[in-house]
Amino acid sequence: MRSDIEIAQSTTLLPIDRVARKLGLGEEELERNGQYMAKLRLPREKRKQRGKLILVTAINPTQAGEGKTTTSIGLADAMNRLGAKTVLALREPSLGPVFGLKGGATGGGMAQIVPMEEINLHFTGDFHAIGAANNLLAAMVDNHIYQGNELGIDRVVWRRCVDMNDRQLRSILSGVGGGTNGVPRAEHFDITVASEVMAVFCLAEDLSDLKARLGRMIVGYTREGKPVTAHDLKAEGAMTALLKRAILPNLVQTLEGNPAIVHGGPFANIAHGCNSIAATRAALALGDYCVTEAGFGADLGAEKFLDIKCRMAGFAPDAAVVVATVRALKLHGGATGDLSRENPEALKRGLPNLRRHVENLQQAYGLPVVVALNEFATDTPAETALVREMCRSIGAETVCSRVWEQGSAGGVELAEKVIALTRQSHNFRFAYRADSTVEEKLLALTEKIYGGAEVRFTPQARRELEELEGLGFGELPVCVAKTQYSLSDDPKKTGAPEGFAVTVRSLRVSAGAGFVVALTGDVMTMPGLPKHPAAENIDITGDGRITGLF
Ligand code: ADP
Ligand code: MG
Repeated sequence: MRSDIEIAQSTTLLPIDRVARKLGLGEEELERNGQYMAKLRLPREKRKQRGKLILVTAINPTQAGEGKTTTSIGLADAMNRLGAKTVLALREPSLGPVFGLKGGATGGGMAQIVPMEEINLHFTGDFHAIGAANNLLAAMVDNHIYQGNELGIDRVVWRRCVDMNDRQLRSILSGVGGGTNGVPRAEHFDITVASEVMAVFCLAEDLSDLKARLGRMIVGYTREGKPVTAHDLKAEGAMTALLKRAILPNLVQTLEGNPAIVHGGPFANIAHGCNSIAATRAALALGDYCVTEAGFGADLGAEKFLDIKCRMAGFAPDAAVVVATVRALKLHGGATGDLSRENPEALKRGLPNLRRHVENLQQAYGLPVVVALNEFATDTPAETALVREMCRSIGAETVCSRVWEQGSAGGVELAEKVIALTRQSHNFRFAYRADSTVEEKLLALTEKIYGGAEVRFTPQARRELEELEGLGFGELPVCVAKTQYSLSDDPKKTGAPEGFAVTVRSLRVSAGAGFVVALTGDVMTMPGLPKHPAAENIDITGDGRITGLF
């Protein structure tokens, strides 16, 4: 069987101008980056929404893999095949997972976006620009302190970042050279996709909004507890200048030559988990349908897409697709050993995970939902029948998707169903009100979305809660940092746990992004590499062909 990269490399790509022409874009709206990638410079009148918005989300991930990106790409190809003008809006991959464990973010099999090597490795350099902007601010903070600390910064909360899984940088001592070599202090690096600059980048409407948001970011506090911002350090102008080109959405294509806008990429467990507002807005303006993916399970990616991004951008989705696999559901049901063996008992025990996510989207958010069963060769008819039966009992249809194996041809039934769903009347709503307290928001998410019973705050989190409320940040949406493996904050609780408490360990204000980050469990904002990182298999030939990238 051919690997993803072999399929991608054996496909003939369209020059990017031809993809752009399908969207009615002219020369002046494209900034080409090689033959197959371009940045989009859309005039304001071309940014008006006309398309319908389709969200692709999933059950809680397992090591078996679910296939949200693959399904999103195959669905968009299938919709285009049916004549429905559809544009993808997806996240850019981070080098952390590319070299680590999880892999890339360009789909798989016959449902991929290309050029996959470029997109997975640096792409158009947006993440480097974001890292540079972040670290410029860090340098300016420490320099300010070194130069006499006129603003009286007593506690630095701004962290340096790098787009790499590097546990060594999680906690370090910096500025230890003595004399003119800086001021010694403990420092913590985050992975770039967890940084506030990434969140701001993805939520900004335009350059002015980007600059204003960057200026509002809090870098530290004075002894009296007064926030010091990037604006106080006069940093936001230079940071925005560094992001001037990065902020333009990137256009690439699927294996079938359909348009995909790929831009921004916060992780969904430790950040808000969806591509930039600029990308979604462009896709909604240029197509009749936009298919977009939110990361990890619907408790994280979809929740933040809906409660944070859609709230801020004024988007209202028209339908949701929940991706599940028989293999992953068996794992949720506690299956051990060979997942390709028929195992209806484990599957039945795992189904409540799917059920909870579907019901959440239907009831908490009021969205029409279809379940896309991403088919693996080893699934049996008895197993798919069980999934269908459960979904039917809660008013959701199940469609088998074979886009990984067949491309658009394997997604026609799903595409037809999704198009029909977007015509259904519905009443989209958020899971919590903006004007409720942080505590009420966390309780609403815990009860309505995770299925838990209570929220506990550690003494530190309680203190931070009081501080941020005192500073007037109590009415911001909440971005929960939580394990992706469970609906609860304990990765070991698979399936659909009940009655649990969610423990909030710490709260941070992202004043530029416009949300409060609630850290739960022991989720970390700088991942590490596994014993055998994927990087060991990646190579390049003398004539520049990349191999071993999934
Ligand atoms: P997600 O977006 O949910 O993280 P991806 O779409 O990136 O998942 O898929 C993860 C991996 O699983 C990819 O390498 C992809 O090739 C593989 N995959 C997805 N669907 C299938 C399938 N039906 N059969 C075999 N492999 C698949
Ligand atoms: Mg994905």
